[in-house]
Amino acid sequence: MRADTLFYNGNFFTPSRKKINWLTVKEGWITALGTGAPDRHLLVQKKVNLKNKYVLPGWIDAHVHLMLLGQRKFEVDVSSCRSLAELKKRVLGRKTQEVWIEAYGLDLEKWKETNPLTAQGLDRISSRIPLLIRQKDEHALWVNTSLLKRAHLEKRYPLGYLVDKDMEIIFKLRPKLSSQKIKGALLYAQEACVREGITSVHDMAMQSLPLKNLSELMRAKKYDLRVYGALYGKEALKEFYSPKVNLFQHHLTVRAQKLFIDGALSSRGAWLSEPYCDMPESTGYCLWQKKELLERVHSAFQKHFQLIFHTLGDQASLWLLKVLASKYKPQELGQRPLGDKRIRLEHVEILNREALFLMKTLGVIASMQPWHALSDGPWLKSRLGQKRLSQVGRFKDILKEKIPLCGGSDAPIEPHNPLWGIGAAMIQKGQRLNLQEAIHMYTLGGAYAEFSENIKGSLEVGKLADFVVLPKNIFRLHPKELLEVKTQMTVIGGKIVYAQ
Ligand SMILES: [Zn+2]
Repeated sequence: MRADTLFYNGNFFTPSRKKINWLTVKEGWITALGTGAPDRHLLVQKKVNLKNKYVLPGWIDAHVHLMLLGQRKFEVDVSSCRSLAELKKRVLGRKTQEVWIEAYGLDLEKWKETNPLTAQGLDRISSRIPLLIRQKDEHALWVNTSLLKRAHLEKRYPLGYLVDKDMEIIFKLRPKLSSQKIKGALLYAQEACVREGITSVHDMAMQSLPLKNLSELMRAKKYDLRVYGALYGKEALKEFYSPKVNLFQHHLTVRAQKLFIDGALSSRGAWLSEPYCDMPESTGYCLWQKKELLERVHSAFQKHFQLIFHTLGDQASLWLLKVLASKYKPQELGQRPLGDKRIRLEHVEILNREALFLMKTLGVIASMQPWHALSDGPWLKSRLGQKRLSQVGRFKDILKEKIPLCGGSDAPIEPHNPLWGIGAAMIQKGQRLNLQEAIHMYTLGGAYAEFSENIKGSLEVGKLADFVVLPKNIFRLHPKELLEVKTQMTVIGGKIVYAQ
């Protein structure tokens, strides 16, 4: 038998649960797995000693924003700022001469100022250069007067605070990123991912220009991270009449479209069935009319795109599922082989029983980010009240109903280390998963959500040789200890893309 590479002397976790100590790779695929010492007659070009370490399938992060993650290389991190003075110090601490300053990570929940943040406040940091500060969850932003004027918004938004859809008016004014900068950002994001053992990501906001640059990087063999793209924005949708599947030896697939049904919980934009406890006049909002949504769904199905819906509040999920059920029979959506649409709901942070059952009936996938529920924890109760907390993060109920579940980070909004996500899924206040279930979210669960369970998500002959090497047996650790485990090696298609 011939192979390109032999990885030996490891402890591989495989579905068979047999003790596996080595595997061989040929042209990126797993060709054999075995126990004990590998056959001496094996003809391989390269041998890698895994020194008795532990090997799991490469992590699949089912919800990232690749460009946002990469662009952080060029932006100001204001996540630790607690006052306008701190904000000023941080923003002006940058020495570069810029025509536009952008910062991310603002967390007003930790803000110590009594006065609200306004455009006039930001003018004290920069009155001339446009300044844009984004909220931690990327669902709100603040701008200074210079930028308000440029956008002709001084009358409409005198305070310089914009939420969700309106943010686009500001984003349109951003200076165009050069190809070089886009590539720099994409490479930075790749590095950040492989360092944590991630071998595949689902990009939730794929736009045309980054996609073009990503393709160029892949063509030049500079991009090993596998990317499953969900198109977002009119321009990207116009350019793609049909899905592109398994380009560059299974490195790039673009076959999904992302639609937002509601906003975020932090800015009280998530659409709830009952009002917010700390804003009783509001239940959040819906971004669609039924008729135009059904037209979009129909058009996506005709072109064979998967549909990925951002639904955070319980009413958003329920309304969407009812709209779908009003037009399509369950067998047209969820049942294979005819209706294998694999519709996905992203976040489903609050979910009521009716929506849960509809998800099951329609064969819809739940794509969740365990870290969200943890980091939102401190203010969830004030938004939702005690009674509704049992509807938050219903991981276990989803599994009980046999609804497919995949896991992601929502990076860069939340940390993207999958072991942190796995740990978070195991220490939730409400519904906890066991390690096996949590790992499934980030491996086979993610693979199923991108129609790739036949080639990804587990270590088996005939699948892609994507795996992560860990220094410890995570099955012997307390969930909290998972946060300390550092990835030793990341392998994509048999190639070592990261080693500590
Ligand atoms: Zn997201």
